[in-house]
Amino acid sequence: MKPIIQIERLDKIYHSGEVDVHAVREVSFTAQAGEFVAIMGASGSGKSTLMNILGCLDRPTRGRYWLDGEDVSGLDRNRLAVIRNQKIGFVFQGFNLLSRTSAIENVELPMLYSREPLTSRERRDRAMKSLELVGLGARASHHPNQLSGGQQQRVAIARALTNRPALLLADEPTGNLDTRTSIEIMGVFQQLNDQGITIVMVTHELDIARYTRRTVVMRDGRIVTDLPVAERLHAAQEIARLTAAEAVIKLAP
Ligand code: ADP
Ligand code: MG
Repeated sequence: MKPIIQIERLDKIYHSGEVDVHAVREVSFTAQAGEFVAIMGASGSGKSTLMNILGCLDRPTRGRYWLDGEDVSGLDRNRLAVIRNQKIGFVFQGFNLLSRTSAIENVELPMLYSREPLTSRERRDRAMKSLELVGLGARASHHPNQLSGGQQQRVAIARALTNRPALLLADEPTGNLDTRTSIEIMGVFQQLNDQGITIVMVTHELDIARYTRRTVVMRDGRIVTDLPVAERLHAAQEIARLTAAEAVIKLAP
């Protein structure tokens, strides 16, 4: 089976002003279809730089990258944009939704740039399916300001899924959310992963990383640890436990 991600001795050097910043150093890494990986590490350790390369938003200075079997290391920006549109869904910390358009219109947006010719009806149906996948079917016509932070992030996840990507990337997707909402969002990612979607996520919180299946730790641009998650948490159980605890508090005299 070919891996979804295969990178070999990847380097990224930023030339900003007088100094060169070596943000990613000789990173090699492979992820198979169906994996759910957390990338951890201190601020400045190169996590976002690596994610941007994995997401075809940026190119490595050196090294090779095969995405879903295709060598993308040498592609120019235009070709990268095409690959990105076909193969990658990206979720960010800030939800990056258009505020004047409804949830479903936000989700439809990537399909407007897709090469696949779709009728407006097909776009709408597909967007609705994506919203249903993240449990937001009933909120399709709401605008972002009528939705909670967690619901907005669900819309962003639905949008990332619309072009049926081979790989879902998320850079600190729970960074703006409270603990309970973060667990709910991790539950959404777990459900998507259970359906076979490959996910790579950056988080600096160990509690959040424990909902994934594998943890990679970066330091000073290098991968220093790469291990399966020993005791995986299940978001649905955790939410049920929290809800039960809140019910007890409410019942207390
Ligand atoms: P993390 O996401 O782990 O916080 P980053 O990948 O954002 O780390 O940054 C890694 C290093 O690269 C840092 O030293 C950061 O200052 C530097 N860096 C990131 N992006 C740029 C850029 N566009 N230009 C110059 N330096 C950058
Ligand atoms: Mg970062």
